[in-house]
Amino acid sequence: MAAVPAPPPPLLASHAAVRATASDVSRFRGARLAGDHPPQVAALRRGDWVKLICGASFEDAADVRNLSLVYTLAGVDCIDCAADASVVGAVNEGIDVAASIIPAVQRPWVMVSVNDDCRDLHFRKAEFDPEDCPPDCSKPCEKVCPADAISLESIMVGGEHTRSDPLHGKLKGGVLTERCYGCGRCLPVCPYDRIRAVSYVRDPITTSELLKRNDVDAIEIHTTGKGTDTFDALWNSFSESINNVKLVAVSLPDIGESTVDFMNVLYAIMEPHLQGYNLWQLDGRPMSGDIGRGATRETVSFAIHMASVPERPPGFYQLAGGTNSYTIDCLKKAGLFQSMTFPGTTTSETISSQQALIGGIAYGGYARKIIGRTLRKIPAQFGRVHIEDHPDHLLEALQDALSLVGPVKGYPALSSMK
Ligand code: SF4
Ligand code: SF4
Repeated sequence: MAAVPAPPPPLLASHAAVRATASDVSRFRGARLAGDHPPQVAALRRGDWVKLICGASFEDAADVRNLSLVYTLAGVDCIDCAADASVVGAVNEGIDVAASIIPAVQRPWVMVSVNDDCRDLHFRKAEFDPEDCPPDCSKPCEKVCPADAISLESIMVGGEHTRSDPLHGKLKGGVLTERCYGCGRCLPVCPYDRIRAVSYVRDPITTSELLKRNDVDAIEIHTTGKGTDTFDALWNSFSESINNVKLVAVSLPDIGESTVDFMNVLYAIMEPHLQGYNLWQLDGRPMSGDIGRGATRETVSFAIHMASVPERPPGFYQLAGGTNSYTIDCLKKAGLFQSMTFPGTTTSETISSQQALIGGIAYGGYARKIIGRTLRKIPAQFGRVHIEDHPDHLLEALQDALSLVGPVKGYPALSSMK
């Protein structure tokens, strides 16, 4: 008598629709693996690399875990997170859960983000003391925060309830530090100027230890373009650990005509100790992708600027800062989407290495926003949410993630999603 196959574990049994969708993604990607390169590098060469940015300062481990799970199933190449051990653990846990649903899923590279000085806007947190707030404030800070990082409650003072007499109450709560990623939108809306931004620099010793972990594959160094000394010092502090990672990214703003000279100085600093791949993140309008269509213009302009300068340093180039669902169309209009040639030139000027001018796109605020909509639908009584415990929500989040990742990757209409 034939043996009865064992039933699938409960997690797998409840995810038939998710498995069907993510398996289509996995098969499509498996068929595209290229040559001797790691799949992530093959994606950069083709121009279809996608990175999820969890946020250099975003440290809510529960959200980071769920985001990592969903975007791993959607097929991102890399997940960029805060250089913090618990956040790195959360990213890897999300990837592990994705692998338990689709064993053939390609694990994205895990990247930690650091800064070389405190002027980079990604490395700050909002702060205020709610005791200093007028009790009748309409709390515009709470409404404007895209990360739900401000939570305020009116409380009674001396037995009177603030709802009936707000001037005799007070506010409690404030900024949820682990959720604040420093976007700064709360700062100008406070009518009483109570909110301040506190900047910081990631500790290089802690970062060096993270780089030695097997579950960290890449580092990104944010620099402001205001000088190279701090970059030099930080780079030297990584001399013992930098070659444990496969990819070194440098994130920088467009500083005009001197941008390429600045990048070439940075490359000269890195080159003696650079054994893996390197990437330049063209940071257009930081932390603004969720605002709307226009936010993506600056990063695409930055890409056009870079493409026009033949003396730019070696490495892959990737967009970030204001990226959203409009970015691909803008890049196509500029003739830079997966283009191997300079726009407007003849094919005889094709780049000899056959590497796309723009290797791909990183999505941050917009990627988090579209998944956040689904996460917020899960009833609050579930406390710390594991999205895989809610298969319908996981499927919805995966479909949203695919709407962003799919156009870059060129996924065909997935039969499982029809
Ligand atoms: S800086 Fe941005 S993320 Fe942080 S509390 Fe203010 S609005 Fe929210
Ligand atoms: S807007 Fe300003 S004063 Fe009002 S609750 Fe927020 S921080 Fe306090």
